[in-house]
Amino acid sequence: MSEKPTIEQYIKNIDEHNFKAYKCVGCGAVTAPPSGTCYSCGGNEMDWTTVSGKGKLVSFTVIHIAPEEFQEEAPYFVAIIELEEGTRITTRLMGFDPMAPENVKLGTSLVLDYEDGKSGRTYLSFKPA
Ligand SMILES: [Zn+2]
Repeated sequence: MSEKPTIEQYIKNIDEHNFKAYKCVGCGAVTAPPSGTCYSCGGNEMDWTTVSGKGKLVSFTVIHIAPEEFQEEAPYFVAIIELEEGTRITTRLMGFDPMAPENVKLGTSLVLDYEDGKSGRTYLSFKPA
């Protein structure tokens, strides 16, 4: 894999249900865009890496008032997930009732899934493991 990672390809991978993160060539730290700079060493030489798809719930919120593009999908969860590889990404959270967020527990083990939104876009999402 010599192709330099781009945001466009990152989004395309998600559309194709083939999520990949960036891996710093310098120090091996895994990160998920939009940053093209390594949070660990500041390097900017990145390569693609596949990830386990396992993570834990760090934080979440319920979106009731959505941007116009996503209005049909509201209410929905947006969550921050810490991947097993160490990076944190913002994704949708599925498998819970957005009207009962008190049932969602931080630290819950989650696995990567994809959500084909009504808007026609595909999102990263996570669901209970
Ligand atoms: Zn690095």
